[in-house]
Amino acid sequence: MTVGVIGAGISGLATTHELRERGVDVETFEATDRPGGVVQTRHVDGHVLECGPQRLRGSPLIESWIDEFDLRDQRFEGHDDQPLFVLRDGHLRVAPLSLRAAVTTDLISWRGKARILAEPLTGPARPDESVADFFARSFGPEAARTLFSPLYTGLYGASADDMLVRHSVGKALDRHGIDRSILLAVARKLLDGVDVPPIVSFEDGLGVLPEAIADRYADSIRFETPVEAVEPTDEGYDIVTPEGTRAVSDVVVTTAAPTAGDVLEPVDASLAETLSGMTYNPLAVVHLESNYGREGHGCQVLDGEGYETLGMTWNASMLDREDVFTAYLGGSRSPEILDRSDDDIAALAAREFESITGFSARPLSVRRWDPGMPAYDEGWNAYEGIDLPDGIHVCATFAERAGIPGRLRDAERTAEAIAE
Ligand SMILES: Cc1cc2nc3c(=O)[nH]c(=O)nc-3n(C[C@H](O)[C@H](O)[C@H](O)COP(=O)(O)OP(=O)(O)OC[C@H]3O[C@@H](n4cnc5c(N)ncnc54)[C@H](O)[C@@H]3O)c2cc1C
Repeated sequence: MTVGVIGAGISGLATTHELRERGVDVETFEATDRPGGVVQTRHVDGHVLECGPQRLRGSPLIESWIDEFDLRDQRFEGHDDQPLFVLRDGHLRVAPLSLRAAVTTDLISWRGKARILAEPLTGPARPDESVADFFARSFGPEAARTLFSPLYTGLYGASADDMLVRHSVGKALDRHGIDRSILLAVARKLLDGVDVPPIVSFEDGLGVLPEAIADRYADSIRFETPVEAVEPTDEGYDIVTPEGTRAVSDVVVTTAAPTAGDVLEPVDASLAETLSGMTYNPLAVVHLESNYGREGHGCQVLDGEGYETLGMTWNASMLDREDVFTAYLGGSRSPEILDRSDDDIAALAAREFESITGFSARPLSVRRWDPGMPAYDEGWNAYEGIDLPDGIHVCATFAERAGIPGRLRDAERTAEAIAE
């Protein structure tokens, strides 16, 4: 039994590890020349720049992977006690993520704050409403527009009007066992005493984790080998690449949905069509160097403020990465930004940084992600309840949670199912 894994991002690498741990023979195919996919660290002018995730939370799961791959001496903790800001009416205002900030912030009016407290009286999430409608119904239109929608959808560069509850917030609420009031569930957690895992990263950036996994399984991973098609055979499947064809018993797809659709077309044309209809929000990630010294994790920029920048991570403050700031542009707000040249995008990000913070910035790097983050919109309806052909498995962000912990758990589940 050989399992073919398509993609060596964190999903494909973690699946490779979990399968090998269970004694299963694996061959992993990666289109590019490096492991990690979206988890990518660049080193520019002495700076460590994260092109994808900026940091992790040191949950027991993440810590166990750090130990498994011997990365503890590279691990360090970021600052947890710093505010996150939202740009509203031209000013950076503190997002109320603690009780104290909730009272003192000028992000939301007193009326808006009072309306948030009425949330337990509103009904539970409805699967078919948009994330924007759900937050507005639950917390009132002002808090939804200025806080809940931007903070939630900011993770995906998505529009809260398009994102459906059933494919996003609804799943998160299910996972946390919240079937009615979010506010009461949070209050209960606060009373019980929440233990939030620390912010963690590695001295040389998050890219060291995929590199360590890829090093261990170097004999299983074929780089610069894009999978062109998966074809059914009597014994399983043929994986077709420019290098030739490999017979496998099972296939694990870890790529974005449209790519999965392309390669699975010979296996199941209808599944392929569904996958091709699932859209992603492209993103441009721009790294800037600036001596802006404000403490904070970063900011979200509200739609309508007149900026193309969706938000920023202040790596300088959160992770002590000297003078480094990461700006995100594009997403569903302006996907056409990716039509511009790298120089144009970099200059725009620097200009907007200066306008928002009052400090000048020098562009260091531009990274485009296209496809970027899953849109989790109505294009996902057709995928719900779909039966995959025997021997075809999916361990990908379009089917499960996009975050790194979710990817690691998905890989474990996938390997477990195959090994059984
Ligand atoms: C800007 C940004 C910030 C993020 N921040 C966070 C964060 O703070 N915390 C967090 O937990 N998550 C974060 N995420 C999400 C998380 O990083 C991703 O969801 C996750 O890394 C996706 O991993 P993956 O392996 O599923 O997919 P990918 O990383 O996309 O990997 C897919 C791999 O498949 C390869 N491939 C594509 N086509 C083929 C083919 N035909 N044949 C072979 N190989 C192919 C690709 O080259 C790639 O290596 C962020 C994502 C982005 C974009």
